[in-house]
Order: sequence, then C-alpha cells, then structure tokens
Amino acid sequence: MSDLVLRGGRPWRSPTAADILVRDGAIAAIEPDLPPPPGAEVVDVSERLVLPGLVEAHCHLDKTLFGGDWVPHTAGDALADRIATERGRRGELGVPDVDRITALLVRMIAAGTSYVRSHTDIDPALGLSGVEAVNAAAARLAGRVTVEQVAFPQYGILANPGTEAVLERALAAGVGTIGGLDPAGFDRDPVRHLDIVFGFAERYGAGVDIHLHDGGTLGIWQLELIAERTKAAGLDGRVTVSHAYALGQADGATQERIAGRLAEAGVAVVTAAVYDFPVPPIKKLLSAGVTVACGHDGVRDLWGPYGSGDMLERAMHVAYRSMFRRDEDIEIALTAATYGGARLLGIPAYGLAIGAPADLVVVDARTPAEAVVVHPVRDLVLKAGRVVARGGVLEK
Ligand SMILES: [Zn+2]
Repeated sequence: MSDLVLRGGRPWRSPTAADILVRDGAIAAIEPDLPPPPGAEVVDVSERLVLPGLVEAHCHLDKTLFGGDWVPHTAGDALADRIATERGRRGELGVPDVDRITALLVRMIAAGTSYVRSHTDIDPALGLSGVEAVNAAAARLAGRVTVEQVAFPQYGILANPGTEAVLERALAAGVGTIGGLDPAGFDRDPVRHLDIVFGFAERYGAGVDIHLHDGGTLGIWQLELIAERTKAAGLDGRVTVSHAYALGQADGATQERIAGRLAEAGVAVVTAAVYDFPVPPIKKLLSAGVTVACGHDGVRDLWGPYGSGDMLERAMHVAYRSMFRRDEDIEIALTAATYGGARLLGIPAYGLAIGAPADLVVVDARTPAEAVVVHPVRDLVLKAGRVVARGGVLEK
C-alpha cells in the first residue's frame, strides 16, 4: 500500500488545519504543510473535518431486515409482545440472513463505522445460526470493518431452558463477550442469572455486556449487584451495562452514587437513546469516570422499523435526548460514538494519534457539533489506511 496524504483537513480537536500521512495502515504524521513523500497519493480534504472511525457499541446485526423488503411492524407495545412477535415471525422472514446483515454492514461502513459490537441471539432453537450468519457477513467485508459479537440470551437464560448450554457453545466457538438480559425482571432470579453470566466470563476469559431495561429500584439494585460482581471477579474494564434505564429515571443523588460505584468497579454504560426510554445521565457518568458509549440497538428489525446504521445520526439522537444544545455538549455524544466506544471495546490503539490505525472519516462540516447535527454523507472513509467508502458508497 502506497503512502496516502489527507491534505488540509481539520482533524478533530486539532487547533489548526493539518495534513495526515497514512503509511502501512497507520497514522504516521499529523502536521500542517507536510511535504508528501515521493509516490504518495494526495487527497485534498480542505475545509473538511476529519474524525476517527466511528464505533457502534451496541447493535443487533443478526436480527436485521435491512436491505430487504419493507416489513410493517406488528408487535404490541410491551417488551414481552416484541419478544413473542420476534420469536413467532423470525422463521417466516428468514432471520438471520447473511445478505441483510451484509447490507447493514455496508451501510455502516459507508457512514464511517470502523468497529461494531453486535449482540447475537442465542437460544436452543436458534443454536449458533446467528453467530455464524454474522461471521459470514463480516468475512465478506473483512478489512473494511471490525465486528465482534456478544452471546445474547434474548429469550432469557433461566426462562428459556437449554440456553445456558448454547451460550457456552458460543463462547467455545470464539464469541468474546457473554450477554445477559434483565436478571430480575425477565429471568426473575438475578443471583442465579449473574452466577451464570459471570461464571462464563471467568471460565472463558470473556467480557460481559448485560441488557438492563429494568427500571426503578429494581434496576438500581441490579446495577449495584453487577458492580459488586465485577469487582469480585476482577473484571474491571471488561463489563458493560447496556441501556441502564433505571439510571436515567433515578434522582440526582442516586445517579451520582451509582455512577461512583460503576466507575470504581470499572463498569461501562452504553445508551441507544431510542424512543422515549430513559437515557443515562451522561455528564454525571463521565465526571465520575465511567466509560460511556452508544449504539443503535436494533436497526430495522422485528423490534422496530427505525435505525439507519449512521453513528453520527445516532450521536445526534443521544445529544438530543440528553438536552445537549451547546457545541461542547454535542461533542460529548460524538465522543461516546468514537473514543468512548473504543475504550469500551478495548481497542488498544485508536484515534487521531500517530501510530494508531488509520481509521478515518472525512465529513463536510466545520465543527464536530455540525457533523453530529447535520450528519452529511461521508466524503471519505478509511479503515486501517485503506479507502473503504467514498461519497457514502462502498469502494469496490
Ligand atoms: Zn440491544
């Protein structure tokens, strides 16, 4: 791969315009008026903002109907209705489908996403079909995006006998993170649920990422349980709570107390900011030292018809739902969609820094806040130094 120079753009957080030299897949220099090395390809990105590759920290690739025919939503309004509808209709609609997963990943790449964490449904009837479908789609796009999976018990562990054994097969097959689902509200036995989840994490060296929709004191109590388990297992930095609606609902003092507990234990929080579900207090979490990331959750699936695959648009929803209006606040949401997600995923080298992989997104915006609010089509997307998309279209 020959050298590439992105000429004259504004790297995020850089006080001035600067050129970026990409060599051997990594960022080799960031400085104004860089003389291009002989033979280097030079791409003019002046007046454009340059961001690090976006990080989708919570989605469900295996469920998606993206790229296929429009499917009207038929589930009722309760969580249990959506779960029942999905279980009833997924066979008829051919979920999971490698082509649809590929279509969504293509859309994500074209919109500048470099890293994806996807929660994949695991249950005895599905076996590892979702894991295999996501792996097949990711293999088609190898080198353009990095995809990791969470073994996710969508229909419960204790509530769905046989799931525990399939979760273990998923971990043995190389899935790196064990999921969970409302240990109290869905599985109705948080101690046993967390015993299983954290037991797997210790035996397989896996990370943990638990969907927690339970609200009120029940949700707060489970956040404390998860923090305790994380400390006891020495899993600092490897445990995530997704959604954590209870945190968004709690009073200010409780939010601060729990934020402190999560920070101390090294538990991260992911929000999707979908519908009118509570959004965790992002500023309080960050000031306590909690890692905060964001993701779409479902994208066009049997849980709902929404979602675009664009992480700048998702950051806008996070900012909007957080009542962020000032530029510096909107940038907090962009940080969740970039550096926060990278920290949560444990990506060792990331960002606009010399030596980091050249995962770069060029966008027609004067400021980061404008990029989030307007989320224009991405001009150029690089993954490890390779141009993977131009003008919102995947590079062949
Ligand atoms: Zn989810």
